[in-house]
Amino acid sequence: MNSRDPAPVTEQEGISRSESAFQRAMRYMPGGVSSPVRAFGAVGGNPRFLKRGYGSRVVDVDDRQYLDMLSSWGPLILGHADPEVVQAIKRAAEGGTSFGTPTEAETDLAVTIVEALPSVEMVRLVSSGTEAAMSAVRLARAATGRSRVLKFAGCYHGHVDYLLVSAGSGPATLGLPDSPGVTQGASGDTVVARYNSVQSVEEAFTEFGEDLAAVLVEPVAANMGVIPPEPGFLQSLRSLCNEGGSLLIFDEVVTGFRVGWSGAQAMFNVTPDLTVLGKIIGGGLPIGAYGGTRSVMEQVAPCGPVYQAGTLSGNPVSVAAGLATLRALRSRQPPGSAGDETIYQYLDRLGERLESGICRAAREAGASITVQRVGSMITAFFNEDGVVDLESAKRSDTERFSRFFHAMLGEGVYWPPSQFEAAMISAAHTEDDVDEVVQAVTRALERMD
Ligand code: PLP
Repeated sequence: MNSRDPAPVTEQEGISRSESAFQRAMRYMPGGVSSPVRAFGAVGGNPRFLKRGYGSRVVDVDDRQYLDMLSSWGPLILGHADPEVVQAIKRAAEGGTSFGTPTEAETDLAVTIVEALPSVEMVRLVSSGTEAAMSAVRLARAATGRSRVLKFAGCYHGHVDYLLVSAGSGPATLGLPDSPGVTQGASGDTVVARYNSVQSVEEAFTEFGEDLAAVLVEPVAANMGVIPPEPGFLQSLRSLCNEGGSLLIFDEVVTGFRVGWSGAQAMFNVTPDLTVLGKIIGGGLPIGAYGGTRSVMEQVAPCGPVYQAGTLSGNPVSVAAGLATLRALRSRQPPGSAGDETIYQYLDRLGERLESGICRAAREAGASITVQRVGSMITAFFNEDGVVDLESAKRSDTERFSRFFHAMLGEGVYWPPSQFEAAMISAAHTEDDVDEVVQAVTRALERMD
């Protein structure tokens, strides 16, 4: 706080500390936030300012505790403040937070990624998923000598200018499919197809195939709510790219190390040319990565001519947090788990329990809810029908979702504040936590009508 700050957060009568904090933040930061969806624009009301997280719980500045189903939008697969991750962060920070030189730990992380993802032989570390997606497309353009990139309506790949075309949750929710400030020139090489529609991709190849550098896809869509790829969809993308000479890029920023150790590419048995990563590989600290075959990756500078760089790329503290997270994912026993259940089997089991619990609660309440889930990623669409693409996602009743969201908050559950997002289960969640969420859903649905 300084003397220019007329509105320090103080206890104000009649309003919560979160509201007071939001009022102050709005004076100094656009919308009071550092990233749009945090502002509750899609659901209305005041965002809760959080001050602490531990395990599956978070606490706001008014000392209200919530069972957290946001998991920081995906990175926190071990939950909040996991002791091993925190220890790794402390140790790394104490040894120096940034060097601007190579470190051995970066190679350790690269090796871990390469061993986990058979499609990846070399990795470049960057600082965010946005940067990774942007760099992967640049590389694909350079490798093919072509300029166009095909993306899917409703898929989000970060706020890269030319990928903010029919993007996902943030922009769709805010009604900004194209952001002002993105020029025609920037988006003119972006071709948009329908998720899960092979036909729309075939049409795009017919029209633009000669100039398509890459097809960029979320192998499980997570930014218009969870939408699994229909059987054969990803395989068809692979074949069309093979025939057309385009690179297939899987954006596994969300799915990487979440749907399984080897990501969606193993789950659906489709091998991309390039993979984009973020979130979990940084264990809750800023990071991103892209990788692929040696021959393609060796075109990146300084090996090759494709320029891409970053002052804090491969930051030692982020890398340490990521390595600790990945180590735990591979070796740790899930909580209360007997026998040799892996963390991914555990997460899937909790996901199944949550899915069936929400479905049961919806049935009992007579509510039209379609639950879609892949492993530990889950969306309850206020939509009677299955959701397969952006168009069907948009048919969801977002007004009812907003009421549901606030009712859940009232029940002490922090659900993602948009219909078009995925709730994320972490390894810190227990069966009891899941049952608590289901009870909250039951009561929330009762309260809504
Ligand atoms: N790709 C996907 C699939 C994402 O969901 C996101 C962010 O949510 C990104 C890329 C961008 O990552 P970041 O927010 O780290 O820039």
